Amino acid sequence: MSYEVIVVGAGPVGLVLAIELELAGIKPVVLERLAEPAPQRKSRGVGPLAFEALQRRGFGPALEACQPERQDEKKRDHGSAKNHFAWIHKIDPDLPEEPDRTGRLIWQPDLERILAERVVALGIDVRRESTVTGLVQTAGQVALTVSTPDGERQLEAAYVVGCDGGHSAVRRLAGFDFPGTDPIMTARQAQVQFEDPEKLPPSGRLEGGMLIHGPGVLGAFDFLEGPDVPRGPVTPEELQASVRRVAGVEVTITEVSDALRFTDNARQAGTYRIGRVLLAGDAAHVHSPNGGQGLNLGLTDAVNLDWKLAAEVRGDAPEGLLDSYSEERHPAGAAVLDNTRAQSALMRPGPHADALREIVSELMDIREVNQYFGRLLGGLATHYPFSYVKPDDHQLIGCYCPDLAFVTNGPSRLSNVTTTGRAVLVTSAVPEAANGWRDRLELVEVDSIGDDRLSAVLVRPDGVIAWACAPGESPDEAQLRTALTTWLGAQA
Ligand SMILES: Cc1cc2nc3c(=O)[nH]c(=O)nc-3n(C[C@H](O)[C@H](O)[C@H](O)COP(=O)(O)OP(=O)(O)OC[C@H]3O[C@@H](n4cnc5c(N)ncnc54)[C@H](O)[C@@H]3O)c2cc1C
Repeated sequence: MSYEVIVVGAGPVGLVLAIELELAGIKPVVLERLAEPAPQRKSRGVGPLAFEALQRRGFGPALEACQPERQDEKKRDHGSAKNHFAWIHKIDPDLPEEPDRTGRLIWQPDLERILAERVVALGIDVRRESTVTGLVQTAGQVALTVSTPDGERQLEAAYVVGCDGGHSAVRRLAGFDFPGTDPIMTARQAQVQFEDPEKLPPSGRLEGGMLIHGPGVLGAFDFLEGPDVPRGPVTPEELQASVRRVAGVEVTITEVSDALRFTDNARQAGTYRIGRVLLAGDAAHVHSPNGGQGLNLGLTDAVNLDWKLAAEVRGDAPEGLLDSYSEERHPAGAAVLDNTRAQSALMRPGPHADALREIVSELMDIREVNQYFGRLLGGLATHYPFSYVKPDDHQLIGCYCPDLAFVTNGPSRLSNVTTTGRAVLVTSAVPEAANGWRDRLELVEVDSIGDDRLSAVLVRPDGVIAWACAPGESPDEAQLRTALTTWLGAQA
Protein backbone atom coordinates (compact mmCIF):
# COMPACT_ATOMS: atom_id res chain seq x y z
CA MET A 1 0.00 0.00 0.00
CA SER A 2 1.33 3.45 -0.84
CA TYR A 3 0.58 6.50 1.33
CA GLU A 4 0.33 10.14 0.32
CA VAL A 5 2.77 11.45 2.93
CA ILE A 6 4.80 9.71 5.63
CA VAL A 7 6.00 11.97 8.42
CA VAL A 8 9.00 10.49 10.25
CA GLY A 9 9.12 11.60 13.91
CA ALA A 10 6.32 12.44 16.34
CA GLY A 11 8.16 15.28 18.06
CA PRO A 12 6.44 18.70 18.08
CA VAL A 13 7.35 19.47 14.47
CA GLY A 14 6.13 16.10 13.14
CA LEU A 15 2.88 16.38 15.12
CA VAL A 16 2.14 19.91 13.87
CA LEU A 17 2.94 18.92 10.30
CA ALA A 18 0.61 15.92 10.53
CA ILE A 19 -2.22 18.05 11.98
CA GLU A 20 -1.80 20.65 9.26
CA LEU A 21 -1.68 18.06 6.46
CA GLU A 22 -4.88 16.49 7.75
CA LEU A 23 -6.50 19.93 7.78
CA ALA A 24 -5.42 20.37 4.16
CA GLY A 25 -7.16 17.11 3.22
CA ILE A 26 -4.12 14.80 3.13
CA LYS A 27 -3.96 11.58 5.18
CA PRO A 28 -0.47 11.38 6.69
CA VAL A 29 1.06 8.41 8.47
CA VAL A 30 3.44 9.28 11.31
CA LEU A 31 6.27 6.89 12.23
CA GLU A 32 7.90 7.30 15.64
CA ARG A 33 10.82 5.36 17.10
CA LEU A 34 9.82 5.74 20.77
CA ALA A 35 7.08 3.68 22.46
CA GLU A 36 6.07 6.72 24.57
CA PRO A 37 6.60 10.48 24.23
CA ALA A 38 9.99 11.64 25.58
CA PRO A 39 9.66 13.07 29.14
CA GLN A 40 12.66 15.47 28.92
CA ARG A 41 11.87 19.11 29.53
CA LYS A 42 13.86 20.47 26.62
CA SER A 43 12.03 23.56 25.48
CA ARG A 44 10.55 25.91 28.05
CA GLY A 45 8.29 27.62 25.52
CA VAL A 46 7.47 28.61 21.97
CA GLY A 47 8.43 31.87 20.30
CA PRO A 48 5.92 34.36 18.87
CA LEU A 49 5.72 32.94 15.34
CA ALA A 50 5.13 29.41 16.61
CA PHE A 51 2.57 30.67 19.12
CA GLU A 52 0.71 32.60 16.42
CA ALA A 53 0.77 29.51 14.16
CA LEU A 54 -0.73 27.39 16.95
CA GLN A 55 -3.19 30.14 17.86
CA ARG A 56 -4.45 30.21 14.25
CA ARG A 57 -5.51 26.57 14.69
CA GLY A 58 -7.27 27.04 18.02
CA PHE A 59 -4.48 26.09 20.46
CA GLY A 60 -4.35 29.59 22.01
CA PRO A 61 -6.44 28.91 25.16
CA ALA A 62 -4.50 25.73 26.02
CA LEU A 63 -1.21 27.61 25.73
CA GLU A 64 -2.46 30.61 27.70
CA ALA A 65 -3.69 28.41 30.57
CA CYS A 66 -0.27 27.72 32.07
CA GLN A 67 1.34 31.19 31.74
CA PRO A 68 1.33 32.58 35.32
CA GLU A 69 2.88 29.44 36.83
CA ARG A 70 5.51 29.09 34.07
CA GLN A 71 6.47 32.77 34.32
CA ASP A 72 7.19 32.45 38.06
CA GLU A 73 9.20 29.31 37.36
CA LYS A 74 11.27 31.00 34.64
CA LYS A 75 11.98 33.98 36.86
CA ARG A 76 13.12 31.63 39.63
CA ASP A 77 15.45 29.58 37.36
CA HIS A 78 16.85 32.44 35.24
CA GLY A 79 16.87 35.11 37.93
CA SER A 80 14.91 37.37 35.56
CA ALA A 81 11.55 37.53 33.81
CA LYS A 82 13.23 39.15 30.80
CA ASN A 83 14.48 37.21 27.79
CA HIS A 84 18.19 36.86 27.17
CA PHE A 85 20.77 37.05 24.42
CA ALA A 86 23.87 35.04 25.44
CA TRP A 87 22.36 35.03 28.95
CA ILE A 88 22.33 38.83 29.13
CA HIS A 89 18.82 39.13 30.53
CA LYS A 90 17.67 42.47 29.22
CA ILE A 91 15.22 41.80 26.39
CA ASP A 92 11.75 43.09 27.14
CA PRO A 93 9.38 40.23 26.25
CA ASP A 94 6.76 42.71 24.96
CA LEU A 95 7.74 44.72 21.91
CA PRO A 96 6.33 48.17 22.67
CA GLU A 97 4.91 48.66 19.18
CA GLU A 98 3.39 45.14 18.98
CA PRO A 99 2.83 44.06 22.61
CA ASP A 100 0.73 41.02 21.71
CA ARG A 101 3.49 39.39 19.68
CA THR A 102 5.25 37.37 22.34
CA GLY A 103 6.02 33.71 22.81
CA ARG A 104 4.33 31.54 25.42
CA LEU A 105 5.91 29.47 28.16
CA ILE A 106 5.05 25.78 28.05
CA TRP A 107 7.26 22.80 28.78
CA GLN A 108 7.87 20.72 25.67
CA PRO A 109 6.23 17.51 27.03
CA ASP A 110 3.06 19.53 27.81
CA LEU A 111 3.05 20.99 24.31
CA GLU A 112 3.52 17.53 22.79
CA ARG A 113 0.64 16.20 24.91
CA ILE A 114 -1.70 18.96 23.67
CA LEU A 115 -0.66 18.30 20.06
CA ALA A 116 -1.01 14.53 20.51
CA GLU A 117 -4.58 15.01 21.80
CA ARG A 118 -5.46 16.86 18.57
CA VAL A 119 -3.74 14.13 16.54
CA VAL A 120 -5.96 11.53 18.23
CA ALA A 121 -9.08 13.67 17.78
CA LEU A 122 -8.35 13.93 14.05
CA GLY A 123 -7.80 10.17 13.79
CA ILE A 124 -4.26 10.52 12.41
CA ASP A 125 -2.39 7.23 12.05
CA VAL A 126 0.63 7.42 14.41
CA ARG A 127 2.74 4.25 14.59
CA ARG A 128 5.04 4.10 17.59
CA GLU A 129 8.02 1.75 17.95
CA SER A 130 8.56 2.25 14.22
CA THR A 131 12.14 3.27 13.42
CA VAL A 132 13.08 4.26 9.90
CA THR A 133 16.30 2.44 8.94
CA GLY A 134 16.27 2.57 5.14
CA LEU A 135 15.12 4.94 2.39
CA VAL A 136 15.14 4.56 -1.37
CA GLN A 137 13.77 7.28 -3.61
CA THR A 138 12.61 6.62 -7.17
CA ALA A 139 10.98 8.97 -9.68
CA GLY A 140 7.45 8.25 -8.44
CA GLN A 141 7.76 7.40 -4.73
CA VAL A 142 9.88 6.89 -1.64
CA ALA A 143 10.27 3.44 -0.07
CA LEU A 144 11.07 3.23 3.64
CA THR A 145 12.40 0.32 5.63
CA VAL A 146 10.90 0.44 9.10
CA SER A 147 12.03 -1.61 12.10
CA THR A 148 9.12 -2.58 14.41
CA PRO A 149 8.73 -5.04 17.33
CA ASP A 150 7.07 -7.40 14.81
CA GLY A 151 9.99 -7.25 12.40
CA GLU A 152 10.99 -5.19 9.41
CA ARG A 153 8.33 -3.50 7.26
CA GLN A 154 8.45 -1.78 3.87
CA LEU A 155 6.24 1.31 3.44
CA GLU A 156 5.90 3.48 0.35
CA ALA A 157 4.72 7.06 0.04
CA ALA A 158 4.51 9.78 -2.57
CA TYR A 159 6.42 12.09 -0.18
CA VAL A 160 8.39 11.61 3.03
CA VAL A 161 9.11 14.39 5.50
CA GLY A 162 11.93 13.87 7.98
CA CYS A 163 10.91 15.47 11.28
CA ASP A 164 13.18 13.03 13.08
CA GLY A 165 15.33 15.47 15.01
CA GLY A 166 18.97 16.52 15.03
CA HIS A 167 20.35 13.03 14.31
CA SER A 168 17.85 12.55 11.47
CA ALA A 169 18.04 9.18 9.75
CA VAL A 170 15.96 10.55 6.86
CA ARG A 171 18.52 13.32 6.28
CA ARG A 172 21.39 10.84 6.20
CA LEU A 173 19.63 8.13 4.18
CA ALA A 174 18.34 10.56 1.53
CA GLY A 175 21.82 12.06 1.05
CA PHE A 176 21.30 15.62 2.37
CA ASP A 177 24.55 17.38 3.26
CA PHE A 178 24.73 18.98 6.71
CA PRO A 179 27.52 21.55 6.80
CA GLY A 180 28.20 23.86 9.72
CA THR A 181 30.44 24.57 12.68
CA ASP A 182 31.68 22.22 15.41
CA PRO A 183 30.77 22.87 19.05
CA ILE A 184 32.88 25.01 21.37
CA MET A 185 30.62 24.30 24.36
CA THR A 186 28.92 21.28 25.95
CA ALA A 187 26.02 21.90 28.28
CA ARG A 188 24.30 19.64 30.77
CA GLN A 189 20.95 20.25 32.37
CA ALA A 190 19.35 18.01 35.00
CA GLN A 191 17.23 17.65 38.11
CA VAL A 192 19.78 16.96 40.87
CA GLN A 193 20.21 16.16 44.55
CA PHE A 194 23.27 17.78 46.22
CA GLU A 195 25.01 17.06 49.48
CA ASP A 196 26.43 20.59 49.55
CA PRO A 197 24.48 23.07 47.37
CA GLU A 198 25.76 25.97 49.51
CA LYS A 199 29.17 25.57 47.81
CA LEU A 200 27.77 26.75 44.48
CA PRO A 201 28.37 30.38 43.53
CA PRO A 202 25.32 32.40 42.41
CA SER A 203 24.04 31.61 38.91
CA GLY A 204 25.86 33.48 36.18
CA ARG A 205 28.95 33.63 34.00
CA LEU A 206 32.01 32.09 35.67
CA GLU A 207 35.59 31.22 34.77
CA GLY A 208 34.74 28.18 32.61
CA GLY A 209 31.29 29.04 31.26
CA MET A 210 27.80 29.57 32.59
CA LEU A 211 26.20 28.03 35.68
CA ILE A 212 22.46 28.15 36.31
CA HIS A 213 20.85 26.58 39.35
CA GLY A 214 17.64 26.70 41.35
CA PRO A 215 15.97 24.33 43.83
CA GLY A 216 16.85 20.86 42.52
CA VAL A 217 17.87 22.08 39.03
CA LEU A 218 21.32 22.56 37.58
CA GLY A 219 22.62 23.69 34.21
CA ALA A 220 26.33 23.93 33.36
CA PHE A 221 27.48 25.43 30.03
CA ASP A 222 31.03 24.17 29.82
CA PHE A 223 33.59 25.80 27.49
CA LEU A 224 36.69 24.07 28.94
CA GLU A 225 35.87 20.43 28.36
CA GLY A 226 37.55 19.72 25.01
CA PRO A 227 36.39 17.25 22.37
CA ASP A 228 36.27 14.03 24.45
CA VAL A 229 32.70 14.42 25.71
CA PRO A 230 31.24 11.28 27.38
CA ARG A 231 28.35 9.52 25.64
CA GLY A 232 25.36 7.75 27.17
CA PRO A 233 23.35 8.93 30.17
CA VAL A 234 24.72 11.88 32.17
CA THR A 235 26.17 10.61 35.48
CA PRO A 236 26.58 12.50 38.80
CA GLU A 237 30.39 12.26 38.34
CA GLU A 238 30.22 13.82 34.85
CA LEU A 239 28.07 16.68 36.14
CA GLN A 240 30.40 17.23 39.12
CA ALA A 241 33.41 17.40 36.79
CA SER A 242 31.63 19.94 34.61
CA VAL A 243 30.70 22.10 37.64
CA ARG A 244 34.39 21.95 38.69
CA ARG A 245 35.52 23.27 35.28
CA VAL A 246 32.79 25.90 34.99
CA ALA A 247 32.67 27.20 38.58
CA GLY A 248 35.93 25.99 40.11
CA VAL A 249 34.12 24.32 43.03
CA GLU A 250 33.89 20.71 44.15
CA VAL A 251 30.30 19.66 44.88
CA THR A 252 28.84 16.23 45.63
CA ILE A 253 25.85 15.30 43.49
CA THR A 254 24.08 12.19 44.72
CA GLU A 255 21.27 11.86 42.20
CA VAL A 256 20.64 12.97 38.62
CA SER A 257 17.37 12.67 36.71
CA ASP A 258 15.83 14.02 33.47
CA ALA A 259 19.35 14.89 32.35
CA LEU A 260 20.14 16.35 28.94
CA ARG A 261 23.51 16.89 27.29
CA PHE A 262 23.66 19.29 24.35
CA THR A 263 26.17 21.43 22.48
CA ASP A 264 26.34 24.50 20.28
CA ASN A 265 26.99 22.41 17.19
CA ALA A 266 25.47 24.59 14.42
CA ARG A 267 24.61 22.76 11.21
CA GLN A 268 22.01 23.07 8.50
CA ALA A 269 21.00 20.94 5.53
CA GLY A 270 22.11 22.63 2.29
CA THR A 271 18.55 22.31 0.97
CA TYR A 272 15.34 21.15 2.70
CA ARG A 273 14.16 19.18 -0.35
CA ILE A 274 15.66 16.41 -2.46
CA GLY A 275 12.94 15.26 -4.88
CA ARG A 276 10.21 13.62 -2.80
CA VAL A 277 12.02 13.85 0.53
CA LEU A 278 11.79 16.97 2.68
CA LEU A 279 13.19 17.97 6.07
CA ALA A 280 11.66 20.13 8.80
CA GLY A 281 12.59 21.13 12.36
CA ASP A 282 15.78 19.89 14.00
CA ALA A 283 16.23 17.40 11.14
CA ALA A 284 16.93 20.43 8.92
CA HIS A 285 18.95 22.51 11.39
CA VAL A 286 20.66 22.15 14.75
CA HIS A 287 22.06 24.91 16.95
CA SER A 288 22.44 25.72 20.63
CA PRO A 289 19.19 26.29 22.54
CA ASN A 290 20.37 29.75 23.63
CA GLY A 291 17.55 32.22 23.12
CA GLY A 292 14.95 29.41 22.94
CA GLN A 293 14.54 29.44 19.17
CA GLY A 294 14.41 25.79 18.06
CA LEU A 295 10.66 25.29 18.26
CA ASN A 296 9.87 28.72 16.86
CA LEU A 297 11.98 27.81 13.84
CA GLY A 298 10.83 24.20 13.50
CA LEU A 299 7.08 24.80 13.91
CA THR A 300 7.31 27.69 11.44
CA ASP A 301 8.97 25.26 8.99
CA ALA A 302 6.07 22.83 9.47
CA VAL A 303 3.35 25.40 8.77
CA ASN A 304 5.27 26.79 5.77
CA LEU A 305 5.52 23.30 4.29
CA ASP A 306 2.17 21.61 4.94
CA TRP A 307 -0.15 23.54 2.60
CA LYS A 308 2.45 23.57 -0.18
CA LEU A 309 3.00 19.81 0.12
CA ALA A 310 -0.76 19.19 0.31
CA ALA A 311 -1.27 21.12 -2.95
CA GLU A 312 1.56 19.16 -4.59
CA VAL A 313 0.03 15.83 -3.47
CA ARG A 314 -3.45 16.88 -4.65
CA GLY A 315 -1.91 17.89 -7.98
CA ASP A 316 -3.11 21.50 -7.92
CA ALA A 317 0.10 23.21 -6.78
CA PRO A 318 1.22 26.18 -8.84
CA GLU A 319 4.65 25.95 -10.47
CA GLY A 320 7.49 26.20 -7.94
CA LEU A 321 5.24 26.19 -4.85
CA LEU A 322 6.91 23.24 -3.12
CA ASP A 323 10.40 24.54 -3.89
CA SER A 324 9.49 27.83 -2.23
CA TYR A 325 9.52 25.93 1.10
CA SER A 326 13.30 25.50 1.12
CA GLU A 327 13.85 28.87 -0.58
CA GLU A 328 11.96 30.63 2.23
CA ARG A 329 12.91 28.57 5.25
CA HIS A 330 16.61 27.97 4.58
CA PRO A 331 17.59 31.65 5.07
CA ALA A 332 15.42 31.80 8.22
CA GLY A 333 17.31 28.79 9.62
CA ALA A 334 20.70 30.24 8.64
CA ALA A 335 19.87 33.46 10.51
CA VAL A 336 19.12 31.52 13.70
CA LEU A 337 22.33 29.49 13.41
CA ASP A 338 24.29 32.73 13.07
CA ASN A 339 22.75 34.40 16.11
CA THR A 340 23.41 31.29 18.23
CA ARG A 341 27.06 31.35 17.07
CA ALA A 342 27.21 35.00 18.14
CA GLN A 343 25.79 34.01 21.54
CA SER A 344 28.44 31.31 21.97
CA ALA A 345 31.15 33.86 21.14
CA LEU A 346 29.74 36.16 23.82
CA MET A 347 29.51 33.35 26.39
CA ARG A 348 33.09 32.15 25.91
CA PRO A 349 35.26 32.65 28.98
CA GLY A 350 38.04 35.24 28.93
CA PRO A 351 38.69 38.97 28.90
CA HIS A 352 37.90 39.48 25.19
CA ALA A 353 34.36 38.12 25.55
CA ASP A 354 34.01 39.97 28.89
CA ALA A 355 34.71 43.25 27.12
CA LEU A 356 32.38 42.46 24.23
CA ARG A 357 29.58 41.45 26.62
CA GLU A 358 29.92 44.74 28.42
CA ILE A 359 29.42 46.65 25.16
CA VAL A 360 26.49 44.48 24.00
CA SER A 361 24.89 44.77 27.43
CA GLU A 362 25.10 48.59 27.31
CA LEU A 363 23.73 48.64 23.76
CA MET A 364 20.75 46.58 24.91
CA ASP A 365 19.73 49.49 27.16
CA ILE A 366 18.94 51.47 24.01
CA ARG A 367 15.26 50.97 23.27
CA GLU A 368 15.67 50.33 19.52
CA VAL A 369 18.51 47.86 20.13
CA ASN A 370 16.44 46.06 22.74
CA GLN A 371 13.62 45.76 20.21
CA TYR A 372 16.11 44.54 17.60
CA PHE A 373 17.11 41.63 19.84
CA GLY A 374 13.46 40.82 20.59
CA ARG A 375 12.63 40.70 16.88
CA LEU A 376 15.76 38.70 16.09
CA LEU A 377 15.11 35.95 18.63
CA GLY A 378 11.37 35.84 17.96
CA GLY A 379 11.83 35.53 14.19
CA LEU A 380 9.66 38.63 13.76
CA ALA A 381 12.27 40.16 11.47
CA THR A 382 11.62 37.36 8.95
CA HIS A 383 10.72 38.77 5.56
CA TYR A 384 10.31 36.76 2.37
CA PRO A 385 11.25 38.63 -0.83
CA PHE A 386 8.42 37.65 -3.21
CA SER A 387 9.23 38.08 -6.89
CA TYR A 388 6.02 40.04 -7.59
CA VAL A 389 6.77 42.74 -5.01
CA LYS A 390 8.49 45.99 -5.99
CA PRO A 391 10.45 48.18 -3.53
CA ASP A 392 7.62 50.75 -3.22
CA ASP A 393 4.92 48.15 -2.50
CA HIS A 394 3.41 47.61 0.93
CA GLN A 395 6.26 46.90 3.37
CA LEU A 396 4.33 44.17 5.20
CA ILE A 397 4.09 41.87 2.16
CA GLY A 398 6.33 38.90 2.93
CA CYS A 399 6.12 39.42 6.72
CA TYR A 400 4.14 37.37 9.27
CA CYS A 401 0.73 38.87 10.01
CA PRO A 402 -0.08 39.69 13.65
CA ASP A 403 -3.33 38.38 15.13
CA LEU A 404 -5.38 41.30 13.80
CA ALA A 405 -8.24 42.42 16.05
CA PHE A 406 -10.87 43.46 13.51
CA VAL A 407 -14.55 44.36 13.68
CA THR A 408 -17.05 42.31 11.69
CA ASN A 409 -20.52 41.95 13.22
CA GLY A 410 -18.74 42.64 16.51
CA PRO A 411 -15.12 42.16 17.55
CA SER A 412 -13.19 39.24 16.11
CA ARG A 413 -9.59 38.23 15.44
CA LEU A 414 -7.64 36.80 12.56
CA SER A 415 -7.08 33.61 14.61
CA ASN A 416 -10.88 33.08 14.73
CA VAL A 417 -11.10 32.79 10.95
CA THR A 418 -7.98 30.70 10.25
CA THR A 419 -9.00 27.39 11.86
CA THR A 420 -9.86 25.89 8.45
CA GLY A 421 -6.22 26.19 7.37
CA ARG A 422 -7.16 28.12 4.21
CA ALA A 423 -5.77 31.45 3.02
CA VAL A 424 -7.73 34.48 4.27
CA LEU A 425 -8.57 37.79 2.60
CA VAL A 426 -9.59 40.43 5.14
CA THR A 427 -11.05 43.57 3.58
CA SER A 428 -13.83 46.12 3.90
CA ALA A 429 -14.74 45.73 0.22
CA VAL A 430 -13.96 42.53 -1.68
CA PRO A 431 -11.85 43.41 -4.72
CA GLU A 432 -13.17 42.10 -8.03
CA ALA A 433 -9.87 40.22 -8.50
CA ALA A 434 -10.61 37.88 -5.56
CA ASN A 435 -13.80 36.46 -7.05
CA GLY A 436 -12.02 33.75 -9.06
CA TRP A 437 -10.53 32.23 -5.90
CA ARG A 438 -13.60 32.20 -3.64
CA ASP A 439 -13.47 28.37 -3.60
CA ARG A 440 -10.01 28.40 -1.92
CA LEU A 441 -10.26 31.49 0.29
CA GLU A 442 -11.84 32.60 3.53
CA LEU A 443 -13.28 36.00 2.62
CA VAL A 444 -13.76 38.17 5.70
CA GLU A 445 -15.51 41.50 5.21
CA VAL A 446 -14.76 43.86 8.08
CA ASP A 447 -15.85 47.30 9.23
CA SER A 448 -12.34 47.97 10.50
CA ILE A 449 -9.22 45.83 10.16
CA GLY A 450 -7.60 46.73 13.50
CA ASP A 451 -4.20 47.80 12.16
CA ASP A 452 -3.59 51.33 10.93
CA ARG A 453 -1.07 50.10 8.35
CA LEU A 454 -3.68 48.01 6.54
CA SER A 455 -7.03 48.42 4.78
CA ALA A 456 -6.97 44.95 3.18
CA VAL A 457 -4.70 41.95 3.58
CA LEU A 458 -4.29 38.50 2.00
CA VAL A 459 -2.81 36.02 4.48
CA ARG A 460 -1.38 32.69 3.34
CA PRO A 461 -2.30 29.53 5.33
CA ASP A 462 1.00 29.89 7.23
CA GLY A 463 0.25 33.44 8.37
CA VAL A 464 2.48 35.23 5.86
CA ILE A 465 1.12 38.40 4.25
CA ALA A 466 0.90 37.66 0.54
CA TRP A 467 -0.67 40.97 -0.48
CA ALA A 468 -1.74 44.13 1.33
CA CYS A 469 -3.25 47.52 0.77
CA ALA A 470 -2.61 50.62 2.89
CA PRO A 471 -5.45 52.86 4.14
CA GLY A 472 -6.29 55.59 1.67
CA GLU A 473 -4.87 53.68 -1.30
CA SER A 474 -6.85 51.82 -3.92
CA PRO A 475 -6.17 48.07 -4.04
CA ASP A 476 -3.65 46.95 -6.66
CA GLU A 477 -5.93 44.32 -8.19
CA ALA A 478 -3.32 43.11 -10.68
CA GLN A 479 -0.90 42.38 -7.87
CA LEU A 480 -3.63 40.67 -5.83
CA ARG A 481 -4.37 38.44 -8.83
CA THR A 482 -0.64 37.60 -9.14
CA ALA A 483 -0.40 36.84 -5.42
CA LEU A 484 -3.46 34.56 -5.53
CA THR A 485 -2.14 32.74 -8.62
CA THR A 486 1.35 32.39 -7.11
CA TRP A 487 0.15 30.80 -3.87
CA LEU A 488 -3.23 29.21 -4.66
CA GLY A 489 -2.98 28.42 -8.39
CA ALA A 490 -5.00 29.57 -11.38
CA GLN A 491 -8.48 30.96 -10.75
CA ALA A 492 -11.46 28.65 -11.01
C1 LIG B 1 18.06 21.74 26.75
C2 LIG B 1 17.26 22.24 25.61
C3 LIG B 1 16.48 23.36 25.79
C4 LIG B 1 15.73 23.85 24.73
N1 LIG B 1 14.96 24.96 24.95
C5 LIG B 1 14.23 25.45 23.94
C6 LIG B 1 13.37 26.57 24.16
O1 LIG B 1 13.27 27.10 25.26
N2 LIG B 1 12.64 27.01 23.11
C7 LIG B 1 12.69 26.40 21.89
O2 LIG B 1 12.00 26.84 20.97
N3 LIG B 1 13.48 25.33 21.66
C8 LIG B 1 14.24 24.84 22.65
N4 LIG B 1 15.01 23.73 22.44
C9 LIG B 1 15.01 23.11 21.11
C10 LIG B 1 13.79 22.19 20.91
O3 LIG B 1 13.70 21.28 21.98
C11 LIG B 1 13.94 21.45 19.58
O4 LIG B 1 14.15 22.42 18.57
C12 LIG B 1 12.69 20.60 19.27
O5 LIG B 1 12.64 19.45 20.08
C13 LIG B 1 12.71 20.16 17.80
O6 LIG B 1 11.56 19.41 17.55
P1 LIG B 1 11.56 18.33 16.39
O7 LIG B 1 10.17 17.78 16.36
O8 LIG B 1 12.16 18.91 15.16
O9 LIG B 1 12.60 17.20 16.85
P2 LIG B 1 12.54 16.26 18.12
O10 LIG B 1 11.86 16.89 19.25
O11 LIG B 1 13.94 15.79 18.32
O12 LIG B 1 11.64 15.03 17.65
C14 LIG B 1 12.12 14.08 16.73
C15 LIG B 1 11.34 12.79 16.89
O13 LIG B 1 11.76 11.87 15.88
C16 LIG B 1 11.91 10.58 16.45
N5 LIG B 1 12.87 9.83 15.64
C17 LIG B 1 14.21 10.01 15.57
N6 LIG B 1 14.76 9.16 14.69
C18 LIG B 1 13.75 8.40 14.20
C19 LIG B 1 13.69 7.35 13.24
N7 LIG B 1 14.77 6.90 12.61
N8 LIG B 1 12.48 6.79 12.97
C20 LIG B 1 11.35 7.25 13.59
N9 LIG B 1 11.36 8.25 14.50
C21 LIG B 1 12.55 8.82 14.79
C22 LIG B 1 12.41 10.87 17.87
O14 LIG B 1 12.19 9.78 18.73
C23 LIG B 1 11.60 12.11 18.24
O15 LIG B 1 10.38 11.79 18.84
C24 LIG B 1 15.78 23.21 23.47
C25 LIG B 1 16.57 22.08 23.28
C26 LIG B 1 17.31 21.59 24.34
C27 LIG B 1 18.17 20.38 24.14
